[in-house]
Amino acid sequence: MTLLRESVHDRRAQLFAWISADDAHGGLTAREIAEQTGMDGRTLRHDLTALAASRALVRTPGRPARWHLLEGAPARARSLPPRTFEQMREVFPTIRQSYLSRLDDCSLALLFDLEGADYSSHPQARGTLFHRFTAEALRTMQREGERRIPVGEALEILYEVLLQRDVPESERVRIPMRELPLLRIGVIKWAGENEFNVDRIAAIERRLSASLNYVAPTGELIERTLTGQVDLLVMNPPDGATVVDWKMTWALPAEPTGDPDPTRHLSYEGYFQQRFYGWLVMRSFPAVQSVTLREVYPLVSGLRKATLLRSDLEDVERELAILAAEFDARVQAGGESPLWSPSPGKHCSYCPRPGDCPIEAEARGEGAIEDGDMAKRYAAQFVVADQVRKHRVKALKAWVDRSGEAVPLKSAKGRYVMGWKETANGRRFVPFVPEDSDRGPDREEPDLAAALRASADQAEAQTVQGDAKVRRRVA
Ligand code: SF4
Repeated sequence: MTLLRESVHDRRAQLFAWISADDAHGGLTAREIAEQTGMDGRTLRHDLTALAASRALVRTPGRPARWHLLEGAPARARSLPPRTFEQMREVFPTIRQSYLSRLDDCSLALLFDLEGADYSSHPQARGTLFHRFTAEALRTMQREGERRIPVGEALEILYEVLLQRDVPESERVRIPMRELPLLRIGVIKWAGENEFNVDRIAAIERRLSASLNYVAPTGELIERTLTGQVDLLVMNPPDGATVVDWKMTWALPAEPTGDPDPTRHLSYEGYFQQRFYGWLVMRSFPAVQSVTLREVYPLVSGLRKATLLRSDLEDVERELAILAAEFDARVQAGGESPLWSPSPGKHCSYCPRPGDCPIEAEARGEGAIEDGDMAKRYAAQFVVADQVRKHRVKALKAWVDRSGEAVPLKSAKGRYVMGWKETANGRRFVPFVPEDSDRGPDREEPDLAAALRASADQAEAQTVQGDAKVRRRVA
């Protein structure tokens, strides 16, 4: 039997099926499985670990370890069944913001969510507990009519939250002691640096909902309700609102430096959140004309924000309607449908089951790192690569200076060389396209905000012209 198929996903599914197929295949060591299946030992160990991480197999400790099926929780056996539209609507009467956000990034990761990722990482648990703390602290301040909360009282609330007494069992999270100092720092900074106008708070950790429509392939108009839970919603008279989102990370997104598009400086997931919550709040509160998303980073005392206007609402609703239609189509098609294709990116770092992804970690770009061990390996490779780079640059500079010519590089798109490039700030030793290339000089990054403004101006001009023509015809 040959288990070395092209796709990692297929290979792991086949390995899992092989172990499940025969009682004699349970309780074997990795070496015995490799002998019987003909798999390469290193690939096999990686696949066994991934299947264990996705709760399909369990590793019995010992030397050597033995691999068994995990009773009652096979990874792929929990795949979503195909459903009719009515069945789908019964199971998902509403669509949560977290599902649409996940789908926006990667549909296979959404499938993993829907199949049940019943665990949370320590950073996720830290974020969950911090959100519960802020909600409890804000409710206390609202009850007592106080704009600030003393640090001591805030810490007492944190310890109460950590006990998780009023939290349903299925929603309790586990956080190790080594994460607690970070939570304490966050709470102390949050309480020490923030002041809230509690009279203007409209919602704390409240789930809002609003409906939109899309046209089904049958031509039928489908109404769907989307929901999202805001951490904190504050009204800004006369007609504005602010959604506050707490971020428990150490890294702040890039600083806004005169960029006309503030959404570029939100977190990776911030663009979607800003549009979704802006839509949700304006639909829930018809008098609100603008919604600002404020991302607050208590650990680093940072803030990023961007505003959505009511005039943007129609575009956002069209975009969300497309996502809702895609969600419904995938859920109806079931977990075995090819619609659940992976889209790698930075979001792979938040993937619920990266071990089940058919794309090799190396090919996932920014989201390639799956765990701490992999991060250490990448860091070590970076140090070596950096040394090689420094050495090569020195040697190449010496060669270019001696020969007086840039070094040609192989490129499928035309001429490309490594050498001294003249720039506005002086010359730099980099790979570049020479001026006399058949490919043209390097292009600047497109200015998306300017392009959007230009297309909006054009659309408006055409509408005015169209109206004038209609008026002339009517006259
Ligand atoms: S690892 Fe990345 S590409 Fe693969 S399923 Fe997860 S999010 Fe999608």
